[in-house]
Amino acid sequence: MKRPLIVGNWKMHGTRSQALLLSRSVARGLQGIGAVEVVLAPPYTALAAVGEVARGGGFRLAAQNLHWESSGAFTGEISPGMLKEVGCRFVIIGHSERRHLFHESDRWIAKKVAAALEAGLAPIVCVGETLKERKRGTARRAISRQVRAALKGTGKNVIERVSLAYEPVWAIGTGHHATPEQVGQAHGWIADASKALFGRTWGRKNRILYGGSVKPDNVNALAEVPEVEGLLVGGASLKGADFLKIIWGFRDVKLGQHGRS
Ligand code: PEP
Repeated sequence: MKRPLIVGNWKMHGTRSQALLLSRSVARGLQGIGAVEVVLAPPYTALAAVGEVARGGGFRLAAQNLHWESSGAFTGEISPGMLKEVGCRFVIIGHSERRHLFHESDRWIAKKVAAALEAGLAPIVCVGETLKERKRGTARRAISRQVRAALKGTGKNVIERVSLAYEPVWAIGTGHHATPEQVGQAHGWIADASKALFGRTWGRKNRILYGGSVKPDNVNALAEVPEVEGLLVGGASLKGADFLKIIWGFRDVKLGQHGRS
């Protein structure tokens, strides 16, 4: 079994002092979690402070975005090296809010994935269909295209460091998560796209996460899906108690599954 990965994406929420309080309470609640790798992605302004908490153990630090260049005249952007300096190990790339609100293209996302890997960061690459694509029956085509575009320049030797997050756009922040059947099917499509790029063995070395309205009351059903190797959690990661319930709930189901296999 791959070690499950659970990521809390705080988006543009929280001041530095609020981030400190939340990250400390999450760190306390993670004592003994071992089996699960936990990552927090606070806003840029809180990265250094939360990075200090991460140094004490329990979770790792992620940024929510990056630029592919190492420095230069790119007002408002942050480079991979700057993220590493404040303690980031992971970076979220291609979140649907960035694709749709900030018009990030597949080409940009590929450059960001390559730059992150080059810098030694572990990219968490988000892919997922819109409601229109799902209704039209083109969800598989959209997801496979995003996976291919993001990873086509990636070497086999680093694929283990990449996580792919299936995040159906219609499930993000809406309270309507994808059904376990939809999640299992989409994770299969992602695994197939990855295997088409890297071969049967290498193509399954990356972790595939689910994200989209994950809450304490639906985590068990989602964790029961064998293809789900972790979670990307938005809204519920802003409430320490809920995030911890999700992490521990996911862990218990996965350990149970592993015990049965
Ligand atoms: C996200 O932002 O990646 C996300 C999954 O958000 P939420 O959990 O709030 O749907």
